[in-house]
Amino acid sequence: MKIVMLGTGTSHGVPTLDCMLNDFRTCPHGVCQKAIADPRYRRTRSSILVTVDGQSILIDTSQDFREQMLANRVRRIDAVLYTHGHADHIYGLADIRSYSHRQGGAVDIYGSEETLNTIRGCFDYVFRRPQYEGGGIPNVETHVLNTPGLVKGVKVTPVPVIHGPTNGCQGYRIGNTAYLPDVKIIPDASLALLEGLDLLILNCLRIRPHASHLSLSESLASVHRIGPRRCLFTHMTHDIDYQLEERTLPDWVRFAYDGQVVESE
Ligand SMILES: [Zn+2]
Ligand SMILES: [Zn+2]
Ligand SMILES: [Zn+2]
Repeated sequence: MKIVMLGTGTSHGVPTLDCMLNDFRTCPHGVCQKAIADPRYRRTRSSILVTVDGQSILIDTSQDFREQMLANRVRRIDAVLYTHGHADHIYGLADIRSYSHRQGGAVDIYGSEETLNTIRGCFDYVFRRPQYEGGGIPNVETHVLNTPGLVKGVKVTPVPVIHGPTNGCQGYRIGNTAYLPDVKIIPDASLALLEGLDLLILNCLRIRPHASHLSLSESLASVHRIGPRRCLFTHMTHDIDYQLEERTLPDWVRFAYDGQVVESE
C-alpha cells in the first residue's frame, strides 16, 4: 500500500495567518518564517491518500484539498473516509465535484453517523440539491462506517477515539497501517484494534499540552504503548521544529511532511 501525506498541519496550517499578521515576531522557533524558505516546515491541513488494491482512498478532504490534489497530481478518488466533522477535515468536499464529474458518478464517502450529519449540515446545497444542475455541485453518496467493513473491496477498520467533546471521531486502520490525526485519548477498546501495526500515523499537535489533542510527550507515550514498527507524527502546529525535536525521538519515529510518500503494509 502507498501512503501520500497530503497535509500534515493542524487547523491553522503552517505558516499561520496569525504569525504573518505579527510579522512573524511571535512564532516559536521562527517556524513560520522558516516555512518560507524550507518546504518541510510548510504544513497544509491534514489528510492522506491511500492507494491499495488499485483503489485510491482519501482520508478527509481538507481546506487545502485543491492545492493538495494539484501538488500530488491525484487523478482519481474512489472513496473518502472522514475522521470527524471539523472544518480542517471536511471543507475541501466542495472540490470533489471535479472528480465526480470526470468519473461520471457519485464519489462514495464514509464516516460515523455524527460526522456525516455534520457534513450534511455544512453542505446543505450538496445534500438538498436545487432544481437546476450546474457544474458546481459535487456528487457524493454517504455511507455510515462505524464498524469494520469493506470499502471498494478493501477492509477498513474504524478506530474510535476521544477528541475533546466531538462525538463520533474515529481514525482508520487499513491493513497494518493506521491513521489517527485528531486524538486526545485512545480508549482501551481501540488500542486492541491497533495491535501488530507496521505504520502508525499519529497526532502530535505541539510541545505544550492541549485539551483535545496529544502533545509531543503524550504522543510518544502512546506510540510506546501501541508499539508499531514505525510511526509518523502529523497534525502539527508551528510549535514543532522538526530539525530541533527530531533529535530527541527514537529513529523509528519521525515527523511527517507534506508530499511525503511511504510504502507500508
Ligand atoms: Zn484537525
Ligand atoms: Zn508561527
Ligand atoms: Zn479536529
